[in-house]
This record gives sequence, C-alpha cells and structure tokens, in this order.
Amino acid sequence: MKYFSTNNPNNTVSFREAILQGLAKDKGLFRPSYIPQLTKTFLNSLNDLSFQEIALEVAKNFVDGEISNSELENIINSSISFPAPLAKLSDDFSILELFHGPTLAFKDFGARFMARTMEHFLKTENKEITILVATSGDTGSAVANGFYNVEGINVIVLFPGGKISKIQEKQITTLGNNITAIEIDGTFDDCQRLVKSAFVDEALKEKINLSSANSINIGRLIPQSFYYFESFKQLENSNKKIIYCVPSGNLGNLTAGLIAKKMGLPISKFIAATNANNVFTEYIDSGIFNPRASQITLSNAMDVGDPSNLARIISLYDDDYNLIKNVIFSKSFGDEETLRKMKEIKDQYDYIIDPHGAVGCLAIEKYKNNYGESFNSVVLETAHPAKFLDVFKNNLEFEPEIPERLSGCLDKESKIIKVSKDYKDFQEFLLS
Ligand SMILES: *Cc1c(COP(=O)(O)O)cnc(C)c1O
Repeated sequence: MKYFSTNNPNNTVSFREAILQGLAKDKGLFRPSYIPQLTKTFLNSLNDLSFQEIALEVAKNFVDGEISNSELENIINSSISFPAPLAKLSDDFSILELFHGPTLAFKDFGARFMARTMEHFLKTENKEITILVATSGDTGSAVANGFYNVEGINVIVLFPGGKISKIQEKQITTLGNNITAIEIDGTFDDCQRLVKSAFVDEALKEKINLSSANSINIGRLIPQSFYYFESFKQLENSNKKIIYCVPSGNLGNLTAGLIAKKMGLPISKFIAATNANNVFTEYIDSGIFNPRASQITLSNAMDVGDPSNLARIISLYDDDYNLIKNVIFSKSFGDEETLRKMKEIKDQYDYIIDPHGAVGCLAIEKYKNNYGESFNSVVLETAHPAKFLDVFKNNLEFEPEIPERLSGCLDKESKIIKVSKDYKDFQEFLLS
C-alpha cells in the first residue's frame, strides 16, 4: 500500500513516511492509493470478534506489512483500549459513545494510535522527535494524553492564556514528564503562527527534530474507521437501511466513515451535521466550496471555516460531486435549536447528550422529516457532555455528572511555562 498526496497522485510515500511526515511536501493530504476491500467472511463474522480483533483486521490492510502483525497487535491493544458502545435510545435510533477514552472525546482513538505507531517507527531508528501542537482546547489534551510517556517523543503544547476552559487547561498542564505545556500570551491564532514559524525555521530544525500531530495526519484517520465496524456489529439485524450521522468540523470522522463504507461496510447514507459554520453543508447543497473565517458556537469543536479533509473526500470520490452528493446529506443548525434538542433528548429518553451530538440528532430528525422512510440511525456522540459543563450551567436545568478521569486531574498541580507571542521568545525557549 502506498499513500499519495491529494495534490499530486504521483507523489507517493510509504505508510511510515505518511505518518512521520504528516502533511505531504506539496502541502496536500496523504490518502491510501486504493481502498482495500474486506471479505464477506470478515464482514459476516463481526459478531464473533472483539473491538481489538476488528481493529487489527482493518488496520492490517493499511499497514500492509510495514509493521509486523504481532507488533501491530500490541499497538492496537494499547491504543484502542476502551470501548465504543452503542446506547440504544429506541429500536432504530442509537448513540455511538466515542467518549470512553482518557480525554473523553473521539480524538483519543486517533491520537493514541498515531502516537504508538510513531513510537514504533522511531524506536527502530533510535531517533528522538519533538512534536509541536497549537490547541484551542480539545486537540491539545487528546494529543498530549496520546503521547504521554511514549518513548523518544517530547510534546510541546501551546495554548492561548485564559482562552481555554479550566478543565481543558488542567488536562494539558498536569501530565508532566514528556509533555510540556506553554501558555502563550495571545490568541489561538498566535499559537498556530508560532508553530508554523518553527516548522520553517531551518536553523532550529538543524538542532531539533520537529514533527506535527495535526488532525490531517493519516495516522489519526485510519483508527477512526475501526469504530464504524465495531458499532455496526452492535446493531440488530434488520432489513432497514443504515444511516450514520456525524457531527462535523474538519470532516475527519466523516472521511473515516466513508472509507469504512468503501471497504464494504453496508452503510447506505451519511449525514454530516454542522453548526452555524456551514461551509460543508453549502458545498453538498450547491457544489460550491466557499471557505471563510469560523464563528464561535456552543459546539465549538465544529467551529471550522475551512474543513481540511474535504480534499480527501473529493479525492476518494474521483472529483465527482454527484457521487459525493449521493452518499452524503448535510444540514446545519444554530445554537438555539441545539439547546432545544439537548433538552428534548433528556426529556424523551432520559439521556444527556453534549452540544455536538445534539447537532447530530437534529440532522437525523430533519432527514426523517424530509424523506419519511424508515431506517436505522446511529449518531456519533463525539465527546462526553461533562466536557461542556458551562453550556449546561448557563442554559439548561440539568447537567451531567463529571466522570472520575476528568475530575481526577482537577486536583493535580499544573506546570505551565509562560511565553510571549513573539517568535524570538518561543525560539529561545525551544533552543534552551
Ligand atoms: C473534533 C471534534 C469534532 C469534529 O470532528 P471532525 O473530524 O473534525 O469533523 C466534533 N465533535 C467534537 C467533540 C470534537 O472534538
């Protein structure tokens, strides 16, 4: 299996290179050169397999011998080490809970798999690398946690001072060891700019081996396909069509679902649910892609104005907009509707859903109203509601309990290094 850049199919690299490079040199995104087909026997036997066994079978196709099967099994067992259960709210409506990992968001699957895969490749080369991540909250904690105590890798997380939630700050700053948290006296954009400047600083790169753990890394995408198979296994057999609804921002989760479908998983339709940042919904409706600055909403992990994975989706469907439109329905919803849906899900099913999942539930409702057909639907619950406690406290009359793995870090001591938003200061810190 080769991986090629969405900017140029002739620019191919190995799996190892794709993971370690992150972004292709021509700034495109790596994608598998073909989508492997899973056998009917495998798809019919999902019920007899554990989540880890399913993940291993799927992953083998993408790794294609570059990691031995026993080593790959170790990587999967240590990274995909928590469940992805379906909560059945009714006969044909389920919530796929992707928040059972250490930082309570689906990003744990991708970050942990990528971290351990990188560790494997670096170990054999006796190399040390430093990963820089700028975060507006969620990505930083998942990446920091994924790489925590991973040998040969140091992680430096830059976050904007006073602009992330207290829980998010604790998640990033209390790990210690190979994770260094830097508070930048500035905005998220300043953090991003500092990271980008470091990556083009040739003098710096001579002294430090820099890498990125950005969401565009194919090593984060591949493991996200695992839980589509795992959740499909948990659905009851029926003749109804199966629809997955994905609350979407950068479209990584959706792309992983489309890959699972192309590998043979019989999902008939995907619904991409968006908030007021509806660039992708517009694209599905009109074929016109008009990226723009993002706006702040209650489902803030979906506040994306220029979704990076669209290039991969277009490439997977051979640049054919009609094919894409056939597979994906999309709809966007505002904050008021989101709050209404959170309350409705609580009243109707006694289930507490987070703002991102609620946008997904709205989109399912809309699709049902538009098309009236009967189908079995799964909404991806991308984060635990306790991560958004403020949304509940400020707007609703109920709130979720805080799981221990989240409250646990609240009492721990933070270690923070403060750096100005001036690149010279950041560079000095990296060289010290
Ligand atoms: C990152 C994130 C999303 C968006 O996922 P994409 O793969 O970027 O589309 C949705 N919900 C939550 C809670 C997230 O953290």
